[in-house]
Amino acid sequence: MSLRLSHLIGGDARSASGGGCLEVFEPATGQPWAQCPDGTADDVDAAVAAAKAAFPAWSNLPAAERAAWMNRLADALEARLDDFAAAESRDVGKPLSLARNLDIPRAVTNLRFFAAAATQFASESHAAPGVVHYTLRQPLGVVACISPWNLPLYLFTWKFAPALAAGNTVVGKPSEVTPVTAWMLGELAREIGFPAGVFNIVQGHGARVGQALVDHPGVKAVSFTGSTAVGTRIAESCARSLKKVSLELGGKNPTLVFADAPREKLLDTVQRSAFLNSGQICLCGSRILVERAYYDEFRDALVARARALVVGDPTDPATQVGPVVSKPHFDKVMGCIELARAEGGRVLCGGEAVKPAGRCADGWFVAPTVIEGLGPQCRTNTEEIFGPVVTLQPFDTDEEALALANAAPYGLAASVWTGNLGRAHRLAGAIEAGVVWVNTWMNRDLRTPFGGVKQSGIGREGGQEAMRFFTEAKNVTIDLG
Ligand code: NAD
Repeated sequence: MSLRLSHLIGGDARSASGGGCLEVFEPATGQPWAQCPDGTADDVDAAVAAAKAAFPAWSNLPAAERAAWMNRLADALEARLDDFAAAESRDVGKPLSLARNLDIPRAVTNLRFFAAAATQFASESHAAPGVVHYTLRQPLGVVACISPWNLPLYLFTWKFAPALAAGNTVVGKPSEVTPVTAWMLGELAREIGFPAGVFNIVQGHGARVGQALVDHPGVKAVSFTGSTAVGTRIAESCARSLKKVSLELGGKNPTLVFADAPREKLLDTVQRSAFLNSGQICLCGSRILVERAYYDEFRDALVARARALVVGDPTDPATQVGPVVSKPHFDKVMGCIELARAEGGRVLCGGEAVKPAGRCADGWFVAPTVIEGLGPQCRTNTEEIFGPVVTLQPFDTDEEALALANAAPYGLAASVWTGNLGRAHRLAGAIEAGVVWVNTWMNRDLRTPFGGVKQSGIGREGGQEAMRFFTEAKNVTIDLG
């Protein structure tokens, strides 16, 4: 039976109205499994009004009480971890083990981390003879949090938790491709009696309900994670009303492998960074640059590993790679592989759809794909594919590695693998990216700044950066004379 989702507005579940419903598909089977309201500007109006009404009480709660509500939600989520993991796996197609070990635990951690941040957030004062200046950090009001489909609950909580912690009220907009766990979280908030209107969710197509949310005059700031194309449109809309905006966008991340790299974790980690979540993580390393002296050995080992990955039913514990998220995305990824061939790339493994037996025969599976023989300026190496597809390029010198790393228009993350820490430090300083890992990948600490440069976005999330984004600094000066 198909799930029937709703919006969460003012503490009430609101079903589809004028906009009707859209079907949500299970990528592993290609079959619909939920009906999601396709929200309208009226739904946005109602959600913003509810959030506005809830703002005075929520922003005036002592920080410890806001934190207590967020911890209650985290506890309730943790108690239902298995249900949420099963839904996330079904909605995105990610292996159940990944949803259970990464996505949902991280959503719980996001809520707890920012609950703690609410109680630790401090501002500055500057004393001078006869004068004291102090800075208030005041919540903005109603803010919009718009999230993508690749890590649905992980990124949704990552955005709204700091907003709530700082005293704002929220209208959230999850991806219409994967709306289920956000809806479940809304139901959980209702169950535990989370203060009505503090946290609202509107569901539906981004171009209609998302755009109406961005444009709403009652929304004071927009925190967006998604594609560069949509992020650019949102930046234009926000510019018209000088609305505060934070944009976490696409990536085309380089992985730099030097011949002196410590071998212990290298192949395991580079393989994960290439194919985890079917390559649908903004941090995935999709351009692998390898020092020529080590190129052949590394390439052969990576290709052998990619071939050995188990692609199949996300509910099977043996599965390492599930489908990609949707039929349009499957078509896009397959089109990118065709383009790579047309550009002269050699497909060393993968390059085709996979048809698992049984219930997943009609799912949208792509074989882990490794391509070589393409230069840095071709579309395959400059455009985001966001699937289980990586390219290999050799280099001879540090300068050449750096030039290749910086050749893409994106600048989210990079990882550098070398035994020479001086080189790692020099490259980390020169690589155009917001995040650089040395001899590791996706090693996250929620206190650190997170975000990209170039086409990967504007602004930083994480720890204090997020708390600052969701507050306005107001300086007060008192003449003590
Ligand atoms: P998307 O841009 O298509 O959609 C993201 C969200 O924006 C969805 O909720 C969508 O409904 C909404 N949206 C679409 N049009 C809108 C509009 N006009 N106004 C307001 N909202 C609108 O992205 P996606 O396909 O869901 O996600 C994949 C992309 O997200 C990739 O490019 C990936 O790199 C990026 N991403 C970036 C990060 C990061 O931290 N930098 C993290 C995860 C994903």
